[in-house]
Amino acid sequence: MFLWNGELVSEEEIQVSYNDRGYYFGDGVYEVFRIYRGQLFEKQAHMKRLYQSMHLVRIHVPWDEEALAAKLDELAADFGNGDGYLYLQITRGAAPRTHTIPDQIDPVMLGYCEPYASPISQIKQGIPAMTTEDIRWHQCNIKSLNLLPNTLARQQAKEAGAEEAIFIREGMVTEGSASNLFIVTGGVIRTHPADRLILEGITRQVIERIAEEEGIPFENTACSQDELMAADEVFLTSTTREITPVISIDNQPIGSGTPGPVTRQLQEAFNRFKLVFDRK
Ligand code: PMP
Repeated sequence: MFLWNGELVSEEEIQVSYNDRGYYFGDGVYEVFRIYRGQLFEKQAHMKRLYQSMHLVRIHVPWDEEALAAKLDELAADFGNGDGYLYLQITRGAAPRTHTIPDQIDPVMLGYCEPYASPISQIKQGIPAMTTEDIRWHQCNIKSLNLLPNTLARQQAKEAGAEEAIFIREGMVTEGSASNLFIVTGGVIRTHPADRLILEGITRQVIERIAEEEGIPFENTACSQDELMAADEVFLTSTTREITPVISIDNQPIGSGTPGPVTRQLQEAFNRFKLVFDRK
């Protein structure tokens, strides 16, 4: 089943207008929820970020947060008890092409679930990454459909034999093309503050809580590219990649060139955490 403008329907009932502003302008926002054993992981945090994104781009939906969350539960129930993800996007709606926003326009919502398993070998062994200039706008806190800089960066990484592109803005590390980035130096975890230069990841929020529980110092301070390369450990986080160690950047090993002890400690704590769903 698909979630289409608030209703659960079959694929045949979905009809997207060629005038949809998502299609013309990337005028919309989205969320990716992880499903573990049929349950939506950190649902409330995702809902909060979705409504915040819509608020910031001034998309007004006729569905309140609770009603939409209930629909997402129905969609996930239809998916069953397996592991996967739920993709949800809301565009501003359809109107003849013009930059200004029509007074009357109905947002268009699409949601569906897909089976998905964590990339275990990457999570265990770590991945190579590369750095690239952060050419994005200054509102990366919005989970916007405009992902062209992100997709181009990821493609650049792929062609360089790397699994993720790490964005550098004016010499400072912001985040990955589809992940948040952390360094560990002298036992302290550091990551870019959750300002307008990064997307505040839901996994990032979980890491901050886990680090506190584990007694690992955590700092919301940006690091320079030099500090990144000299870090003891580097890892990235996202809904689909969980906690993935970065073992080399631009073909240079990070630390020992293998997943480090702090990263592994966080991974173990995360694996415990993700199976407990009633935690807020
Ligand atoms: N930053 C960017 C640019 C992303 O696309 C993502 C993945 N959605 C993240 C960070 C990580 O966010 P989350 O942990 O919510 O998946």
